[in-house]
Amino acid sequence: MSKEGSKKILAVPSVRRGNGSGHLHRMLHLAAKYPRRVSLFLDRNGELSPGPTINLKPYEEFIRSEIDFRRLKEESWSYILLDQRQTPLSLFARLRELIPHTPVAAVDEGGKFRKHFEYLIDTLPSLRRQECNLFNPDLNPRPLRRRLYLDCPERFEKILISFGGEDPRGLTLQTLAVVRSIPFLSRSAVTVAAGPAFGDLRLPPGIKVLYAPENLREHLSDYDCLITSYGLTALEALAAGTPVISVNPSRYHSRLAKKTGLLVCGTGKPDAGSLKKALENPRKLIGRCALAEESLKSGTEESLSPVDLSPAPASCPGCGKRKGNAVGRFPERTFYRCPSCGLVYQQRWVPDTTVYNHSYFFDEYKQQYGKSYLDDFGHIRSMGRARLKNIHTRKPDPTLLDVGCAYGPFLEAAREAGFRIEGLEPSKEAARWAAEHLDCKVSAMGLDEFVRKNPQKKWDAVTLWYVIEHFPDLESALLQLAGMVKPGGVLALGTPNCAGISARRNLKNFLAASPSDHYTILSPKSVKTLLRQKGFRVEKIRIPVLHRERFPVLLRFLWSCTGRLGRLLRLGDTFEVYARRIDKKGKDTSREE
Ligand SMILES: [Zn+2]
Repeated sequence: MSKEGSKKILAVPSVRRGNGSGHLHRMLHLAAKYPRRVSLFLDRNGELSPGPTINLKPYEEFIRSEIDFRRLKEESWSYILLDQRQTPLSLFARLRELIPHTPVAAVDEGGKFRKHFEYLIDTLPSLRRQECNLFNPDLNPRPLRRRLYLDCPERFEKILISFGGEDPRGLTLQTLAVVRSIPFLSRSAVTVAAGPAFGDLRLPPGIKVLYAPENLREHLSDYDCLITSYGLTALEALAAGTPVISVNPSRYHSRLAKKTGLLVCGTGKPDAGSLKKALENPRKLIGRCALAEESLKSGTEESLSPVDLSPAPASCPGCGKRKGNAVGRFPERTFYRCPSCGLVYQQRWVPDTTVYNHSYFFDEYKQQYGKSYLDDFGHIRSMGRARLKNIHTRKPDPTLLDVGCAYGPFLEAAREAGFRIEGLEPSKEAARWAAEHLDCKVSAMGLDEFVRKNPQKKWDAVTLWYVIEHFPDLESALLQLAGMVKPGGVLALGTPNCAGISARRNLKNFLAASPSDHYTILSPKSVKTLLRQKGFRVEKIRIPVLHRERFPVLLRFLWSCTGRLGRLLRLGDTFEVYARRIDKKGKDTSREE
């Protein structure tokens, strides 16, 4: 899939007063790198706008396309990427109104809506270990011009003071006054970076000014030392090999600076004593900054970037209601529990690429269970015999369709039990093998195509063993299945259990281990709700003890104990459902076979 060919990402950086220009720079950088994939929306002119706050003139050429908010509706967006620090409710509500159902990701979000966003990207170390989908410091543009800390001079000859695009606390002039009062720096060159929103800076003679530097990060390695607040520029300087001293506008910033390993010389205003001490001893500061830079580099093994993301909508695939809060966040997906039907489901942010082919049944199955699907045929057939004891069709010579029948072990057991069998299997190889081996009809296609080709056909029993979790649209699959079961007939399925012992012990680990092609994770409770809505009555829930013989002897004993206990408490990691289609007299007009 070409990144450039995908739907566009609507990046919405903050341009509000007090938020600095880092958010804007970051999104400009992303848009400039992927101009056909990323569009920028700045809420400075439209109804959303609290008024223009930052002079954007120097950056105008970097804004590839500033979307008029009325045109937002006309385009189909992949997702909204908020870079707002703390997203205001008014902005979020307006975007929701204009482009509803568009997934939302947020970068370094610190606001109270954080947990409501579908996808969270953090680029900076946080104070609390907040859950995010992706930690990716690489989203922050890194300077191309760098030097080694070893090359830093023994005396700071060139000092840069930079407090962002706005410097709302006026730290620039206060810090400059302290630096100028230090006698041993009298011959050092001091430069002040004046942000676009600074207005008139009355500076003493001899002070150099970088006015609204477009690309400050590429200048950082020219200086022996940077005095700044905790933020992107500080981290860029560390990457550029320039020692950093932090003077911060708030305690929050100072705590973050310390956590990153930066020296803090003042909160709210510069602290003259510690600033002087730090500037007096360059070696110590250089060592500290080199260490901080090293620690920032580690733990950045994630390689996903915002342009790699292409999310699916996040409404519940079981009942269609809007999503609840996230219960698990991972780089490729977010899990939710539906507040309405209780279903746990994944919203994929990177599309799944599982193909149900030879390798799926042989290599991947072997990886998971230690043998190939065909080697396991006899075992699966014997499990099928146990399952068939729960399928009572009340009809002589009953028909049975096994959906996702693979190589047909359950079909073989069903024939032994007296059913007229038929299979449906998307893998052509498995379908052909099963048809030849069992001498029965096996359609090699997906459920949608099968229903299209057999719109009226119904069976006394329709079964799905570890298949239902593979349908991205569970509701439509259940409706199709409901239409395939004769009134009074049985729908039977087995699936992983989201209320089982593993999920209860550690939901996050359970979700992390859930295969990428399991779109929904049912529980006995949610399956009852969903099947009732589709015209079924659940007659039996069976919690099987699976895979026991795959464990060593001692573990098997323990397993049988926990298994029995689990069954008693309904805590198995998988479960089976046997449901009967309720015969509504007069309502079902389909023909009986
Ligand atoms: Zn639901």
